[in-house]
Amino acid sequence: MRTVFVATGNAHKIGEIRSLLGPEYVIVSQRDTSSVLNPEETGATFAENARIKAVTWAAFLGIEVCNLGASWVLADDSGLEVDALGGAPGVHSARYAALDTGRPGNSPDAENLAKLLRVMESIPEDRRLARFRCVLALTPVQPGAGADELAAGTRFFAGSCEGRIARVPAGGGGFGYDPVFIPQGFASSFAELGDGVKNQLSHRAQALEHLKREWV
Ligand code: IMP
Repeated sequence: MRTVFVATGNAHKIGEIRSLLGPEYVIVSQRDTSSVLNPEETGATFAENARIKAVTWAAFLGIEVCNLGASWVLADDSGLEVDALGGAPGVHSARYAALDTGRPGNSPDAENLAKLLRVMESIPEDRRLARFRCVLALTPVQPGAGADELAAGTRFFAGSCEGRIARVPAGGGGFGYDPVFIPQGFASSFAELGDGVKNQLSHRAQALEHLKREWV
């Protein structure tokens, strides 16, 4: 049994990771601690941002007496890339709307969605291709290890899911851009298809498959 600290407060991400990893893993997360670290995600790639989150939390749990019993930290950095927008919102997916207002921190999902649909209003059906990407960073909790050592010991697992962007949001499931993301081979959004289908196809599911196969 491995106890893994998932470095996010996003209840949807935690739920998906818990259900995709299955009962052999004990999942604890930011929601189980009152400590708030919120490292700034200054990386230019999903991998860099995932590593920033994983290393920050691993360093903290390494010195914290009550580290929730976790021997590993898993950080998920993910987002949506739209071809017609040159790969945007990309690493800025969580704060896409705030890029215009300069407001610090992430934006509500509804604001990000509204902006995406607005900037894509004139883009025709055949140019609405997009993909979700996810990079997972896995860092061991090693008491006494510095940030450089933790970064060097970090492993990465990536996944992606192709699809297209709908013109109007549909469905009540999932989170983020799920109401407008229609995965390849389907006619409904992730939010309409529900967790069962999403967890078979998603970028996060692919990345976690790699992790389970390669983590010996
Ligand atoms: P992060 O928490 O910094 O990795 O930000 C990820 C952002 O990308 C989220 O806030 C969502 O807007 C978007 N995103 C990532 N994964 C998904 C997904 O599975 N469904 C919908 N949106 C997602």
